[in-house]
Amino acid sequence: MIQEYQLRVLPEQAADEQALKAYVAREKGLDARTMTHVRVLKRSIDARQRRIFVNLKVRVYVNEFPQDDGYECVDYPDVSQRPQVVVVGAGPGGLFAALRLIELGLRPVVVERGKDVRARKKDLADITRTQRVDGESNYCFGEGGAGAYSDGKLYTRSKKRGNVDKILQVFCQHGASTSILSDAHPHIGTDKLPRVIENMRNTILSCGGEVHFQTKMTRLLIETESDGCRRVVGIEAETKSACREFRGPVILATGHSARDVYRYLAEAKVEIEAKGIAVGVRLEHPAQLIDQIQYHRKEGRGKYLPAAEYSFVTQADGRGVYSFCMCPGGFVIPAATGDEQIVVNGMSPANRGTQWSNSGMVVEIRPEDMASLSDWGGDVPTDSPLRVMAFQESLERMTWQQGNRKQTAPAQRMADFVNNRLSYDLPKSSYAPGLISSPLHFWLPAFVSKRLQEGFKTFGRQAHGFLTNEAVMIATETRTSSPVRILRDRETLQHVQVQGLFPCGEGAGYAGGIVSAGVDGERCAEMCSAYLNRI
Ligand SMILES: Cc1cc2nc3c(=O)[nH]c(=O)nc-3n(C[C@H](O)[C@H](O)[C@H](O)COP(=O)(O)OP(=O)(O)OC[C@H]3O[C@@H](n4cnc5c(N)ncnc54)[C@H](O)[C@@H]3O)c2cc1C
Repeated sequence: MIQEYQLRVLPEQAADEQALKAYVAREKGLDARTMTHVRVLKRSIDARQRRIFVNLKVRVYVNEFPQDDGYECVDYPDVSQRPQVVVVGAGPGGLFAALRLIELGLRPVVVERGKDVRARKKDLADITRTQRVDGESNYCFGEGGAGAYSDGKLYTRSKKRGNVDKILQVFCQHGASTSILSDAHPHIGTDKLPRVIENMRNTILSCGGEVHFQTKMTRLLIETESDGCRRVVGIEAETKSACREFRGPVILATGHSARDVYRYLAEAKVEIEAKGIAVGVRLEHPAQLIDQIQYHRKEGRGKYLPAAEYSFVTQADGRGVYSFCMCPGGFVIPAATGDEQIVVNGMSPANRGTQWSNSGMVVEIRPEDMASLSDWGGDVPTDSPLRVMAFQESLERMTWQQGNRKQTAPAQRMADFVNNRLSYDLPKSSYAPGLISSPLHFWLPAFVSKRLQEGFKTFGRQAHGFLTNEAVMIATETRTSSPVRILRDRETLQHVQVQGLFPCGEGAGYAGGIVSAGVDGERCAEMCSAYLNRI
């Protein structure tokens, strides 16, 4: 017999398999000796009241055993002799596109400018040691893309549950914990992601696909047909020692930080447009303080609850101010993609066990705001498709200058910032390259700092204790999404002017986050397959 139940249990009952089994037997009048397995299908924490509960949906097996691992495995066929498709970028968009191509009987050839996910690790460590950033191997570039050394949060606002479930199942098939299928806020953790990514690469290779590291696309091979139609037939790429061509239609999944790709597209007259982003800072609190606030308990989260999350959103002077990519029990990390820039972001390990909790605190910026931000963005015209990117670049450069021209990030205590006061000292932080006290209220664009100050006051009223000098703001968070959109047709997902080119994932402006980039990668693969059937 198999039965499903909705339960509301205490955190200590949810955390212990035997305690949960005993609870189900007692509450549902079952004989615990006949219960072979209790599978958690959904799990969420209800911390609205002082007494905290965990809501569970469970499937109970009585006198029989589960026949599966809780998810459907994809059968990947051998595609070594099948038509090939070039996938540029091995982030979640590119990797999921490649795996879906295999499912559809096509042979992916993946080119990635950075190194494999393990080799990348050394370059990340070197940022703190040398205060320099390798322009081809960093927190954004390399196998696994920007998502590889992240929190690995797998939530998305997408309503297409089927597509999202498929992405989570593929992650499980490649070694992620099956808890991601049941948690309301699933995450893998930066310590677990590399192995999952390696397994995905091994699937591509074992099916006859190719993966080329340290291979950077420098241009698209575009042919103009007799009717004037432009068609992509491959790419040209630079390796360490040579220039190579790869032939086939192209899924372009190069992420939000490949500025050279945007510049190339603008030059090659492949239509792009400026897109809104959000910029601000990473805000870091002691994790214990966030636990106390969110769980309404002086003693914090205790033994059975995870590090607490939060989410804030408000409007200030016509623009959204909100928390972004919250990393409970995590680290703030240097996420620049070159020298002479500072960019911060956050990640956390699977156990979310550090003594800090951080999130991006950002202000929405729209392309039409560029006129009022004319001091930022150099000589790029305010109506250029590259203007929001130029704004982002100049803010990152200014941050680097304020940070003593190293990766030491300018920082300010939160309440000092709101009160326009320089911080005389800074709290201990997880940001490994180091912090330097700086008057962010003074040099950040007023467009951003004034709204952040308003936002912080609102959040402090909503969560008592949140607006505090125990929290430190670390500048600047600028890579929240792509500053450019590569225009594509809504139905075919092909570029609006150029056939055979499928702009994909976050860099194309159609996804934000690991799961949505994965979903978009799968859709691009499907549309690319339909395109190959047509031509
Ligand atoms: C530190 C950090 C933490 C994050 N945490 C989370 C999180 O917890 N949850 C979440 O959902 N999202 C998170 N994100 C965002 C998430 O990582 C991105 O939304 C996602 O990775 C986008 O996927 P993508 O495949 O579209 O692009 P990317 O992941 O950016 O991948 C693009 C790839 O293309 C490669 N590339 C670029 N140019 C070229 C070229 N010319 N030739 C060849 N290859 C090229 C890059 O090296 C890169 O590997 C985080 C991002 C960062 C930086």
